[in-house]
Amino acid sequence: MKIQRDDIWLLSRLDYVWAKYFDDVSQNNKVFIKFGRYARARLGSIKYDKKSGHSFITITGMFKDLKIPTGVIDHTIAHELCHYTHGFSSPHRKLHHYPHEGGIVKKEMLSRGMGSLVKGYRDWIKSYRRQFR
Ligand SMILES: [Zn+2]
Repeated sequence: MKIQRDDIWLLSRLDYVWAKYFDDVSQNNKVFIKFGRYARARLGSIKYDKKSGHSFITITGMFKDLKIPTGVIDHTIAHELCHYTHGFSSPHRKLHHYPHEGGIVKKEMLSRGMGSLVKGYRDWIKSYRRQFR
């Protein structure tokens, strides 16, 4: 059976990444995840809706393609969860001024044992960008 990459599959990846790498980070609100439109440059984003108090993670529709390694999608989800952990688009206390200052996302990922995800992503993005040169 071929696994289909839909929003339910995406939610299973979020559960997996959260349980494996962000076990100590409490989920203080509802967090939704879904595929968005096909975007080449923006692979993921996290937004906070003040009115409902929910967080929304959007992953590029490009990642529905089964040729994209699952680790690349996990990496993108983990990136957004680092923002959540740092208090961006989440109810957690803001730990930094800017979401990407001083490579804090990568540092967070490495400190949480995601070295192989980071490496897998780096390898993929290199060959991916080569296509457009
Ligand atoms: Zn980011």
